[in-house]
Amino acid sequence: MGETRPRVRTHTGLILKDTLRRFMAAVCLAVWLPLGLGCSTSDLSGATSGATGISLSGTQAGNTSSQASAPTGAATPESEPQIPDPGAGASSTQPTSGPGAAVAIAAGSRWETRAYVQNPGSSPTVVIVGGMHGAEIAGFTAGDEVQKITVRNGRLIVIPRVNVLGIKNKSRAVEGTGVSDCNRGWPSSSSEAPKGFLAQEVWKFLVEQKPDWVIDMHEGFAFHLESSWSMGSSILYCSTVGPTPPEVDSMLSAVNKPITDPQHKFSILRMALESCMSGSTGAVLNARSMIVETTRPLPLSERVNQHVTIVRQLLSELQMI
Ligand SMILES: [Zn+2]
Repeated sequence: MGETRPRVRTHTGLILKDTLRRFMAAVCLAVWLPLGLGCSTSDLSGATSGATGISLSGTQAGNTSSQASAPTGAATPESEPQIPDPGAGASSTQPTSGPGAAVAIAAGSRWETRAYVQNPGSSPTVVIVGGMHGAEIAGFTAGDEVQKITVRNGRLIVIPRVNVLGIKNKSRAVEGTGVSDCNRGWPSSSSEAPKGFLAQEVWKFLVEQKPDWVIDMHEGFAFHLESSWSMGSSILYCSTVGPTPPEVDSMLSAVNKPITDPQHKFSILRMALESCMSGSTGAVLNARSMIVETTRPLPLSERVNQHVTIVRQLLSELQMI
């Protein structure tokens, strides 16, 4: 990302090495991207074009020397539990009990999803989103779990399964809208409209809520510190909203505490996240926004637990729980 290479190389070995590297990268992209499996650096190339560059902070700062590798270990994920089929209506996919009041977004449409709101009128406002990418089961499973957390202060808003048709189809796309990736096409200014009906309805809701914090829960297909092409096990903090707050360092410490393999630890990556929902809530709404990526080879329960740990740590830091 952001790499510059000379156009002409005279050394045969360098040419062969570069050709081989490009070939391997092309193979990875050709096989992996169409499957829509997880989030990667390539996947976020559009999102990072305006970034000030990736930097690492927290306990993994400086640990960036790992080599990119083909997703050999990531190609055999665990057997996942069955994802319930929501059928024609979206409502059956939504959690039915929890402390928050349910609010319909895109109400009455086939894209209808629900936000669960606790303590309206209180502050700060924390928004947690799951299910943007329907194949990333840990994101929306964690959404269902986070929706059960009761806060004593502040306002917690959880949208556990934002892209219900994507979840049904195990897809990044938003069915019936022409949007091939639910986490692209979000606005970079208040005068811009998001791409597609679902994003427009969600954006309208988010603008009304004026969030102070936003966490969008995803998963990658390999550990970022082992394979830099994947975003697995990282907190992608929106770089347009100032320095990384201490709360995010605390979230990093909490999730890394039980992880013994240094290559499997989370790191903080600072990115503009342009055209992603988190980038837009950062740039346009000035929210402290981030994407959290767990890593798919880990058991689902562990990935969900990591998401929940990160969310709970933020809520604890904000004295909401
Ligand atoms: Zn994703």
